[in-house]
Amino acid sequence: MSEQHVQVEVRLEQMKSLGEDAEKEGVHSEERAPASDPPGVGVGVSVSVARGGNASRSTTVHGHKSRGGRLGKDRNTCGSSDPSIYGSLVSVHAKKNANRAELERTLQIKGNGTILQGKLETNGNYVNNQASKNNQDSTRREEAHKLARKRRPVTVDTAKAKTSLEALKLSIRQLKWKEFPLGRRAACDIYWHGVSFHDNDNIVSGQVNKFPGMIEMLRKINMSRAVRTMQELFPEEYDFYPRSWILPEEYQQFATQSRLVKEKDATLNPTFIVKPDGGSQGDGIYLIRDPSELKLVAGSQAKQSVVQEYINKPLLIDKLKFDIRLYVLVKSLEPLEIYIAKEGLTRFCTEPYQEPSQKNLTHVFMHLTNYSLNVHSGNFVHSDSQNTGSKRTLSSVLYRLAAKGVDIKKVWSDIIALVIKTAIAVVPELRVYHHADIPPGKPGPTCFQILGFDILLMKNLKPVLLEVNSNPSMRIEHEQEVAPGVFKYVPSPVDKEVKVGVIRDTLRLMDPGHKKASVSQPRAGGFENREEIPTEAEAQEEGALPSLCLKQVYPKYAKQFNYLRLVERIAALFIRFLGVKGNMRLGPTAFRTFIRTCKLSNSYFTMASVDILYIDITRRWSGSLSDARDAGMGLQAFVEAFFFLAGRRFKSLALREQVASLLELCEAQLEAHPGAEDRRSVSCSRVLPRAGRGPTPGAANPQADSPAPLRRAASQDYRLHQRLKPREALRANVDN
Ligand code: ADP
Repeated sequence: MSEQHVQVEVRLEQMKSLGEDAEKEGVHSEERAPASDPPGVGVGVSVSVARGGNASRSTTVHGHKSRGGRLGKDRNTCGSSDPSIYGSLVSVHAKKNANRAELERTLQIKGNGTILQGKLETNGNYVNNQASKNNQDSTRREEAHKLARKRRPVTVDTAKAKTSLEALKLSIRQLKWKEFPLGRRAACDIYWHGVSFHDNDNIVSGQVNKFPGMIEMLRKINMSRAVRTMQELFPEEYDFYPRSWILPEEYQQFATQSRLVKEKDATLNPTFIVKPDGGSQGDGIYLIRDPSELKLVAGSQAKQSVVQEYINKPLLIDKLKFDIRLYVLVKSLEPLEIYIAKEGLTRFCTEPYQEPSQKNLTHVFMHLTNYSLNVHSGNFVHSDSQNTGSKRTLSSVLYRLAAKGVDIKKVWSDIIALVIKTAIAVVPELRVYHHADIPPGKPGPTCFQILGFDILLMKNLKPVLLEVNSNPSMRIEHEQEVAPGVFKYVPSPVDKEVKVGVIRDTLRLMDPGHKKASVSQPRAGGFENREEIPTEAEAQEEGALPSLCLKQVYPKYAKQFNYLRLVERIAALFIRFLGVKGNMRLGPTAFRTFIRTCKLSNSYFTMASVDILYIDITRRWSGSLSDARDAGMGLQAFVEAFFFLAGRRFKSLALREQVASLLELCEAQLEAHPGAEDRRSVSCSRVLPRAGRGPTPGAANPQADSPAPLRRAASQDYRLHQRLKPREALRANVDN
């Protein structure tokens, strides 16, 4: 063990004991913005404040400290057996707070872990107002206990769980809930699907662990499109996603832009990674350095894929490239609620990394971190430990980085921001899918879903989003070669540690009893400040369970990110004019109604121009659709039309202000004339020329009024001017 290593360990120990002292002294650990705050993962005391804004607001200890002792350290951090590095670091942060808290004497901690509140009078005396509150609390606790005892166990239909089954069974057992492995005639509270919302289409109540449309939305092309739309509006906020082009339709732009980059600086020889649209587990992925190397067709079919800037300076550990698999729970779409698992996985390459060169482009074990590929490398290390081997816990990697002096709190808050921004990018279209499958008023289940975010850390520690998996593997066994060429599934301690925690705590958050409790006791301050924690009775009922490993990040940090939700407002307009059940596309009449209702046409932009706009955009967007039923204007096409209309109307503003201004205008019109869109069949009966025929000959100045080519040109310009930047502004003190 090196001297430095020993020093680091000693430092961490000291930090930890300081943290423990801080806890004893009475820490008020506040949740703050991700940008400036500690990650709050594995925090010794996790405090949830009901922000009522009045003197009697309640403060609840989130189980951690009081239960931590009983459970032993390995039960405290989302299954991580490490005393988490976050815990130590955050405890130091907590210590500072403790000093402040002590000075202010506003809080006291009692042995049972409940934070009691008092007031500091002007004379400096501390007035404990706990006596009556304690009585009330214990009555409430007793009542909640009685209720909890009466409650029947939550029922879970696991018949369609597929590869998540093992982890799910363990979770249900830990929760003492009731499993129905073969399904059940009566309704269950929760249905666990292995693949898609549609695994079982006969569910009309309860909760399903998949959203309709999530698979489609998170396919590589769709997801790239959604993020690129956000990049147009907010280029800086969305620079965590590598520049991408959609093939085959954007081949020309890709070829031109990569040529321009090389012409501008001959020393630059960027590498690109090509990913087939429906692919997963590294299937069909390859690296290129020139557009001519693209494999554009498979048989006679053009290959749908995404080609992406290759991040050639990843952060390395032990000279190996690795990526992070982060589990994210979308608890609700409307209103948006997102949780991040404090513990995740890191997947390591099995061949030392070198920057891409013509010689090593095909070395998959060097460039691709996929477990499914690397497990077949002779160098793959299966390990029972969580901090060695080719698959490790996220906390063990962050621990390593912290020991090298990396500011992991900053890394973690950047990761939280990346997750929230990505969710904001994909939610608008998900809403459309959701509306089509479960229109308001139709009986249907509520949905939640665990997503797998794949994140790469660059050498400068900036997190980069690689992709989001709608169906992250929840297997807790791994493939192992038991004889040459013979693979078998054997239990994987690392997977079990992480994934059982994620599933169990997702279930706890989705507990219908828990939900009712939080609905029936709305907290002052509204939704924005609501925190999802088990009620005290539930916490006691859950007994020996560790505290939740899922941390709410939205709406918790909504204030910082809400300004990004412009496309969602466009989607709300779109859905409003969709009308018909099950529809996902606007017809020409509905589009005209939208224009009329929002008063967007005038003598300079006539309804004839509106028709041309509709035809032009829909024809291009539906170019790749084989099915005539898919005809019409989808959300992404509508967004393009909306951007164009905004540009026309508010010429002097920047795009995002244009869009925000047009949204305000439309929303104001709709508010003034509620229900106007429902009358469209009466007010708009004119049928448009068929999309396939092109613009109406002789229509007023089609060039000036046909905006899509202009809009497209503008957006291509935008991308042309984006640099292929190595993003090395930050330099980390990390040994590569
Ligand atoms: P799949 O769904 O097939 O796993 P990914 O997008 O996750 O596809 O890519 C597979 C692997 O390729 C990633 O795990 C990562 O190691 C590597 N990778 C993907 N995109 C990039 C990129 N832009 N830069 C560097 N490496 C990448």
